[in-house]
Amino acid sequence: MTTYDLYIGGRDVPPGSGQYFDTVEPFSGNAWARIARGTAQDADTAVRAAHAAFEHKDWRDITATRRGAILRRFADLIVAHADRLGQIEQRDNGKLIAEVSGQVRGVAEWFHYYAGLADKDGGRVIPINKPGVFNYIRHEPLGVVVAITPWNSPLALTAWKLAPALAAGNTVVVKPSEFTSASLIELARLGTEAGLPAGVLNVVTGFGAEIGDALVRHPLTRKVAFTGGEAGGRAVNIAAAEGFKSVTLELGGKSPNIILADADLDQAIKGAVSGIFGASGQTCMAGSRLLVHDSCHDAVVAGLVEVLKSARIGDPSDFETQIGPIATRPQWEKILGYVEIAKAEGAVLEYGGYAPEGPQYGCGQFVVPAIFTGVSNDMRIAQEEVFGPVLSVIRFSDDEEALRIANDTRFGLAAAVWTRSLERAMHFVDRLQAGTVWVNNYRSTSFTTTFGGYKDSGLGREGGPDAMREFQQDKSVWITG
Ligand code: NAD
Repeated sequence: MTTYDLYIGGRDVPPGSGQYFDTVEPFSGNAWARIARGTAQDADTAVRAAHAAFEHKDWRDITATRRGAILRRFADLIVAHADRLGQIEQRDNGKLIAEVSGQVRGVAEWFHYYAGLADKDGGRVIPINKPGVFNYIRHEPLGVVVAITPWNSPLALTAWKLAPALAAGNTVVVKPSEFTSASLIELARLGTEAGLPAGVLNVVTGFGAEIGDALVRHPLTRKVAFTGGEAGGRAVNIAAAEGFKSVTLELGGKSPNIILADADLDQAIKGAVSGIFGASGQTCMAGSRLLVHDSCHDAVVAGLVEVLKSARIGDPSDFETQIGPIATRPQWEKILGYVEIAKAEGAVLEYGGYAPEGPQYGCGQFVVPAIFTGVSNDMRIAQEEVFGPVLSVIRFSDDEEALRIANDTRFGLAAAVWTRSLERAMHFVDRLQAGTVWVNNYRSTSFTTTFGGYKDSGLGREGGPDAMREFQQDKSVWITG
């Protein structure tokens, strides 16, 4: 079995506790690697290493162009190792190999993009109404950034933070999910090979309440970029506030996917299926509430069931598989628990919602995609994030009712509307309370644009040209003759 130590100061470092825990393949249920159980003592070592690297001339004094060159080399190494990284991630998380191999190559794009932006950040010259007085604003890095990430897309969600943070000149300590740590240790090794000076990128592993909390509270940590669930996000936000640290929080969702009467139904059904059932529903942006106009409700439900009947469920390492296992045991239990909650609330289970049995399902950690109809928006199944392949279909009779239901949630991560009318689409764009709105598509994302949540779905934004600003502070410089 492979053993992964912590990665601090450009080398593997055993945890102070001397303890390791197993990381398990969701498909087989077998442990395949041992992961270091870091503690507060290791958090201190890692943050100090990152702080020393931030102040060291090898990082502080290099030009932004040179930083970009290192990040470009990092990206090229990620591509060169994409298959290996993808296999590790697939093993740890149960993601479909077909999906993860594309996703890892996408990770490299994030580094290329921010490598390109690194030396194009000009600051601003500010007009001052006094002769002989000159003022400009410099954008400077913050210092040590702590990136805390979840298990559902370990490399990708880390890259969203890492690439702009490094491009802006910070140093980083990554704390991946305790369920999916291995690929991040491998990534950090590639960073060193690419030329990142020792201590610029560190990865420490272990549990959120132990090492995660200690990283956030460390006095030398200046910024926390967090992706995860509500409880973790709240704990991180409160701990960071105590130390006056800025945060970016990418949290959960209960995103509405709205099919209007004039939609192209074939296209909308395909979008609804990938919207909720992609990655077995384990995505923050999952379109878990499908709002369907009365006139097409039955046709849409029939179409969804038809697609799911032929979906290939099974071994995620098979390129033909379309629906893989649930990533962790607790998550699997939680999803099946929500199916029971929905039934007890009176929702009608039209399809799936059970764990299939048979040798083709490995250790059995699967959920057959579930479709519920007869859902009203005040049910728990419509208000709480399941983070699994469970779709709630909710009827509406006019556009205003659809908008009211769509916005009747404390989340605001994403939303979609399917219609042939540009005018109606723009009305929905105007009124939907969500950080991302898709028109006639679902799940489109790119490193070139912004992503983040309204309301309880988060604070701050990732991606796009402005994301480096999340990792900078401004210095106002006054010059007189
Ligand atoms: P989680 O909150 O349990 O864990 C996320 C990370 O936070 C892990 O590394 C964990 O160890 C750490 N953590 C937990 N408590 C902590 C604490 N008190 N202090 C410091 N660190 C702590 O989330 P998860 O179950 O791994 O991921 C699923 C959640 O992530 C879902 O709610 C999903 O919606 C969300 N998510 C959001 C986005 C987004 O971009 N908005 C993307 C993917 C996932």
